[in-house]
Amino acid sequence: MAQNQTESLGSLIDDFDRQSEPKKGSRGGGGSSKLPPKNVILSVVVLGCLIGAAVFAARALRTEVGSLERWSQERTLIDMETGEVFEDYRVADGVAFPLENPNTGTVTLLPAEACNWTRDGRAKWDPTWVYVPVGESVECPDCGRPVVGRNPQPPVELMLEALDRKEAGGG
Ligand SMILES: [Zn+2]
Repeated sequence: MAQNQTESLGSLIDDFDRQSEPKKGSRGGGGSSKLPPKNVILSVVVLGCLIGAAVFAARALRTEVGSLERWSQERTLIDMETGEVFEDYRVADGVAFPLENPNTGTVTLLPAEACNWTRDGRAKWDPTWVYVPVGESVECPDCGRPVVGRNPQPPVELMLEALDRKEAGGG
């Protein structure tokens, strides 16, 4: 008798333990055991959230990079009055020229044209910057050649030769 009691008490405790576990034994209604375990549902939800967050972050990042690109356009500007040159000046896209010269406070900064010619008909890697009014042609103060809007560079072989000279320290 006493042995039997302990046995049934043990099986009661067993049942209690099993019920608290996520996995149910073969005992009991089969309906609930066919549902996917809670852990699986939870991990699917978490995974979905992570993917969503990643996509969101990627989009946000791309937008930010795009706006950075818009703002990082660098141009070389020249003061049309003093001739002061601002190389690689950061200019916002679609801005109206002239811009204010940060040194003098006058609104006289315009995009500069590059002349890469030397007086003896060779090319130089570092150009002379020239202020050219729209639609006009201005004589380069260094080589005397006419400089126009979107001034064309010397032929590429001359530019490469100029780069070689610059890297060799000859300027
Ligand atoms: Zn020149």
